[in-house]
Amino acid sequence: MDNKGKIGVTTENIFPVIKKFLYSDHEIFLRELVANAVDATQKMKALASSGDFKGELGDLSVRIELDSDAKTLKIIDRGIGMTAEEVDRYINQIAFSSAGEFLEKYKDQISNIIGHFGLGFYSAFMVSEKVTIDTLSWQDDAKAVRWSCDGSPEYEMTDSDKTDRGTVITLYIAEEDKEFAERGRIQSLLEKYCKFMPVPVIFGKEQEWKDGKYVDTDKDNVINRTEPLWTRKPADLKEEDYLNFYRALYPMHEDPLFYIHLNVDYPFNLTGILYFPKIKDRMELTRNKIQLYCNQMFVTDSVENIVPDFLTLLHGVIDSPDIPLNVSRSYLQSDANVKKISGYITKKVADRLEEIFKNEREALESKWDNLKLFIEYGMLSDEKFCERAMKFCLLKNTEGKYFSIDDYKKAIEAEQTDKDKKTVFLYATDAVAQYPYIEAAKNKGYDVLLMDCQLDAHFVNLLEMKIENSRFARVDSDSVDNLIPKEEKIRPEMSEQDKSDLDVIFHSVLPEGNNYYVTAENLGENEAPILITQSEFMRRYREMSSLGGGMNFYSEMPESYNITVNMQNPLILKVMGAKAEAFAGKTVEDPVKDLPKDATEEQKKEAQSKKDAALEERRGELREFAGKNEILKQITDLALLANGMLKGKDLSDFIARSRQVVADAYLK
Ligand code: ADP
Repeated sequence: MDNKGKIGVTTENIFPVIKKFLYSDHEIFLRELVANAVDATQKMKALASSGDFKGELGDLSVRIELDSDAKTLKIIDRGIGMTAEEVDRYINQIAFSSAGEFLEKYKDQISNIIGHFGLGFYSAFMVSEKVTIDTLSWQDDAKAVRWSCDGSPEYEMTDSDKTDRGTVITLYIAEEDKEFAERGRIQSLLEKYCKFMPVPVIFGKEQEWKDGKYVDTDKDNVINRTEPLWTRKPADLKEEDYLNFYRALYPMHEDPLFYIHLNVDYPFNLTGILYFPKIKDRMELTRNKIQLYCNQMFVTDSVENIVPDFLTLLHGVIDSPDIPLNVSRSYLQSDANVKKISGYITKKVADRLEEIFKNEREALESKWDNLKLFIEYGMLSDEKFCERAMKFCLLKNTEGKYFSIDDYKKAIEAEQTDKDKKTVFLYATDAVAQYPYIEAAKNKGYDVLLMDCQLDAHFVNLLEMKIENSRFARVDSDSVDNLIPKEEKIRPEMSEQDKSDLDVIFHSVLPEGNNYYVTAENLGENEAPILITQSEFMRRYREMSSLGGGMNFYSEMPESYNITVNMQNPLILKVMGAKAEAFAGKTVEDPVKDLPKDATEEQKKEAQSKKDAALEERRGELREFAGKNEILKQITDLALLANGMLKGKDLSDFIARSRQVVADAYLK
């Protein structure tokens, strides 16, 4: 046999095209060639088990042989081989009609496309100046064929001296690709792509260090595990097997919290094992730890668009021949199969968590702090998952006890329902800083949750929407009585003048730079004189905007505080008494009010400026009064101190004054 011809490619220059577009991904040639060898071997096994082939199968390993000096790389299989006619059909005449166009369009996704477009074999030319195929078909009367091609569309077919069944692909590595003639490079590529292929892949011999250099031993250098864990039956596996598999995949990681074994064959094929990694904080969120395989052949480790965003935080492997890889990544999202797969995985993850919730509650609680960021992120980003997770999501209170959302609501309902019939979930974001507020709430018989995770500002919002008739309030967002108002508030009776005086007095003793809303309330004589709180709403939106979420406007506003003055506290009564005395008989003139109906513009203007001057005078006097009133200064600073807001000179002044107060009390 002697046969010369032109490969049936309409784009004459398919090789330059392949070279050009696949430049960055040269390495995948090896995956493609080994995958072909594995395919041919699997087909051979199938022929044997169907009885079509009755001979000896022999050793079916795929062997890779590198000759670094000659710069040749051989991929050798003992699969079905090809007849001359098959070589002609599969290698020479492959329909390449639109290949050039296709490559142009999808150059970004090329490495995924290549194997699914019948281009697999030709990827050999990315790194070779010449490729030969020596092949002998399994069929009884087959004759061995040699095909060779130097990268131009011209090929040559002759007889081959090959005597045993199967195929040898020989690559003559091009000078500019000589990295692929290095043992280390080939070894690492095989480990990356072929680690779990279903037929043994052997790359030369294992080596050992002897007399100052590495030499071959007589043991085969086996690259892969042909039966990776995910292909085995869950019933046959133990916890330890899953842990060991994880450790092998991610040697540098701490052990995972839980795992899920995926296994479905209808309406699509998917197997895999997913692990919940231990996540301590947001900085540790690493994506792209899931490896995607197609029939045990590594495809990619960027699975975005295939699994829902929050699941990219999981680790593990997914193997599915049904994920279309010959399309662009953005298209994947709208692919019906991918949607089903993604929905299935979400459901499985939720199933597993629910099962853990039901049967391994203790384990769930002990691992919750490391799991919670993941669950919260899932609930915030995936509606379906959220629905499911409402059942197994745990809440932790400031005493370190865990509750399901339902149980918690039931537990607090009696004590913590306000006058509008809303159950108020109290929470703290910092158990140390908010300690006095937490204690006050507990003393009142309330329970306080701990919400100290990075996503909690958003999460609290979500829970408020999902839990019917609920409201979330941080413990320090109001006085303990007002956190859960049980009845309409009775405000102390005060004249407008007194109210505005109170406002001026407090503004003059509070630090500058913030907004203050001063209100008078009757909180009882044993309660603190002054309470500084931050409105739940404002604080939450500031936090959410600092986490990102398009509300930057809030984070640029000055901090706002509510100053609640307890009009029943004896110290306040004393301050107010002193003020009443100091201002007795001093009313602010209001010439505007006394203007006749027919006053001219001129008169109105004059009256207004007189009034402004009178008000300014009053404010001045109030500030002076406040500045001199020691009680006022002391109790305001105490309130600031309780909130960690007393700083710098104010703090050292306060300490000096307090020392004097103590001295006065004890030394006299
Ligand atoms: P694909 O594998 O995507 O079909 P390839 O270009 O890689 O495309 O291969 C084309 C065809 O050549 C294969 O479908 C197979 O029939 C045949 N072939 C390639 N390599 C081998 C091999 N090692 N043994 C037997 N047949 C092979």
